[in-house]
Amino acid sequence: MSEALYLQDAYLTEAPATVIGHSDQGGVIVDTPLFYATGGGQPGDQGRLSWQGGEMAVQTTVKGSFEGAITSVMVPDDGASLPAIGTEVTQHLNWDLRLRHMRMHSALHLLSVIVPLPVTGGQIGAEKSRLDFAMEQPPEDKQALEQALNALIARDLTVSEQWITDEELAANPGLVKTMSVQPPKGAGRVRLVRMGTDVEQVDLQPCGGTHVKSSAEIGKIRIGKIEKKGRLNRRVALHLID
Ligand SMILES: [Zn+2]
Repeated sequence: MSEALYLQDAYLTEAPATVIGHSDQGGVIVDTPLFYATGGGQPGDQGRLSWQGGEMAVQTTVKGSFEGAITSVMVPDDGASLPAIGTEVTQHLNWDLRLRHMRMHSALHLLSVIVPLPVTGGQIGAEKSRLDFAMEQPPEDKQALEQALNALIARDLTVSEQWITDEELAANPGLVKTMSVQPPKGAGRVRLVRMGTDVEQVDLQPCGGTHVKSSAEIGKIRIGKIEKKGRLNRRVALHLID
């Protein structure tokens, strides 16, 4: 089994693979997974698998284990017939949906720059996303926040990745902004996502999700409701304008 393709290239929309297993819940496991599995607040990918003489819609993708490693499990409709183990398939990603998730996900990284408070939770959606912050008082000026976020997006910041070891991460605990979601550990290395190049870096944090290549691709953002969630938390909603 190879590393997930979305980690190498988040813009890949189609890829061949060989079916190597079926999960106990009736999902399909392949040797070179293209589909992102639900995790870190980002929904699993949708799309379809095709092979000679067959096709299967993928409703969502979840994490599962195969021979001791965590991998993507593609979940079909109830009653769908699965490609047999050993079948060569083509994975076709629902790109429209994934791109929205990538834009939203990247926008949430930048929101955590504009609101420099500890993140206590988050959820990405195609229409609406949110981050929860340890925020006792509501922001004084929501419009100013929205303007600052859109200005950061418009700077066309390069988004890049860098891998470090678990030990390097442990030595730099300040990199972890999200208290509720610990970065994926145990594989010996962790992926850092950087917004902006070295000289104008605005954010660097561990993340296993999918992001756009440059912040301008996010497009314009509207900040929605800011809701109080418990005594110490506030939830900030984001919407893509187009
Ligand atoms: Zn991310």
